[in-house]
Amino acid sequence: MRAPQVVPLAGMPRQVSVFEVGPRDGLQNEPTLVPVATKAQFVRRLVSAGLAAIETTSFVHPGRVPQLADADELLRELGPLPGLRTVVLVPNLRGLDRALAAGATEVAVFISATESFSQNNLGCSRAQALRVTQQVCARALDAGLAVRGYVSMCFGDPWEGSVPVGQVVEAVQALLAQGCTQISLGDTVGVATTGQVVELLRELDAVGVPASRLAVHFHDTYGQALANSLTAVQHGVWTVDASAGGLGGCPFAASATGNLATEDLVWALHGMGVDTGIDLPALVQTSGWLAAQLGRPSPSRVVRALTSG
Ligand code: MG
Repeated sequence: MRAPQVVPLAGMPRQVSVFEVGPRDGLQNEPTLVPVATKAQFVRRLVSAGLAAIETTSFVHPGRVPQLADADELLRELGPLPGLRTVVLVPNLRGLDRALAAGATEVAVFISATESFSQNNLGCSRAQALRVTQQVCARALDAGLAVRGYVSMCFGDPWEGSVPVGQVVEAVQALLAQGCTQISLGDTVGVATTGQVVELLRELDAVGVPASRLAVHFHDTYGQALANSLTAVQHGVWTVDASAGGLGGCPFAASATGNLATEDLVWALHGMGVDTGIDLPALVQTSGWLAAQLGRPSPSRVVRALTSG
């Protein structure tokens, strides 16, 4: 079988927007440095496969994430991509200035729901991080850019263990108040289970944050990424972050492995009759091609199934 048998499932939306993070979240965690021409080809192939929202790179300090030190060059190489939603991650004002100079049209900022991860990953407290995102949001909005917000450690933290849901709600509200148009709820270490997902969405709804403003970003460390993503979709979240071929994890959280593979998500959604606009065979070919560039097989189950014999 090259495609799932389609049996619509009641309660699912007609369409889901897949937010592709492979070029940034995937490649930043690769041990090898991928040439900028390969990255540009990767993005173009994703576009050809129907991905309409792509996080292309990060303007983080080149010394901190050398894999993405070519962010400016990549954007120059890509040129304008009309009709597409392309996003670049910016950690601070300096990153934003570089992104603006390179012609970015949407940026993403990030904070942690937990104090420990903020200190260990961002090197500052949550309050300090929010002051930085405030400045970035203000300047980006002034320049006419949309801003996406990430909240990491929404469902568990390697240092603190469980994360109080109220803490996550506060972080989401803070980023929305700063002008973010969409907030992506990150399970950075991949420990979430579906009950937690529903609880968080309920708590957010109770304070006036509709699921339509949210995206979800699950990691597959414990094999829960797809279940959690589909549960979020059933509860009104129409944007799901995923990484082509299951590339990447998080270089700052030792136990974090594997973003949700875009192909695995697309197989499940198409099987339920949900439209994604994505050409699955073309996407699988792209991930197979990239795996060959990286010299190792794709961790995506769907990529492996569709490329074996
Ligand atoms: Mg990720």
